[in-house]
Amino acid sequence: MKIVAGNWKMYKTIDEAQVFFREFAALALPLPQNVEVVIFPNYIALGAFAGTALNGVILGAQDVAADAEGAFTGEVSPAMIRSTGAKYVLIGHSERRHVFGESPDVVHRKLLNAMEGSLVPVLCVGETLAERTSGRATEVVRGQLDGALSGIAHLDRGHLMVAYEPVWAIGTGANAENDQIEEMHSLIRSHLRQLLGDGAGRGIPILYGGSVKPANFRSIVALPSVDGGLVGGASLVPASFTELVKIAAQC
Ligand code: PEP
Repeated sequence: MKIVAGNWKMYKTIDEAQVFFREFAALALPLPQNVEVVIFPNYIALGAFAGTALNGVILGAQDVAADAEGAFTGEVSPAMIRSTGAKYVLIGHSERRHVFGESPDVVHRKLLNAMEGSLVPVLCVGETLAERTSGRATEVVRGQLDGALSGIAHLDRGHLMVAYEPVWAIGTGANAENDQIEEMHSLIRSHLRQLLGDGAGRGIPILYGGSVKPANFRSIVALPSVDGGLVGGASLVPASFTELVKIAAQC
């Protein structure tokens, strides 16, 4: 089963999101049985879809608070997200880490809070260009996994996904090469097995993200270590997102 997940970032009003789903339905339905399709809209659009059947598309949130509830103006809790019917939440996306300065400790607390609130975290990890060129990419990604998953010694199947998203490939048009993806995904897999035990570590899907588009996705999603894609720009357009779903179905 491959996974194709769209991160809409801060795009689409409620009306625009509804138009997307209408057009996507016309192009992509019925969804292939062997692909899980996930969309991460902004909170406003997510709320507008509460209780709506989206023909098999699963919803997620792009972020979550680090606390269960309380006096935290502007924050959104796991229970609020669950109440929309969403299943997943992005944790530690590079824009949260690098634009908003989210620390490893905050990423860790958000991940725990999501799990305690019955959401499935999609933990995003990835190195900057400076970290890669100085030969520290694997050390950085290992450290991000350690920080986020510290104290979690056991996980049930289906309770976590990881997305490897090199920061230098996000929104830049420059995707990582297949051998760079294979190398990092293998490292992530072995580190997850070390941290969480063999069984859990083996079952956690690992997605690739960073300038995925129809022209490069076929060879990426066919890699043995890649369970799917986390897609920004190309997920905003029904035709290109449909194309990605169809490519994943052929793998
Ligand atoms: C992302 O936002 O997670 C992402 C990978 O964006 P893009 O596909 O636009 O590089």
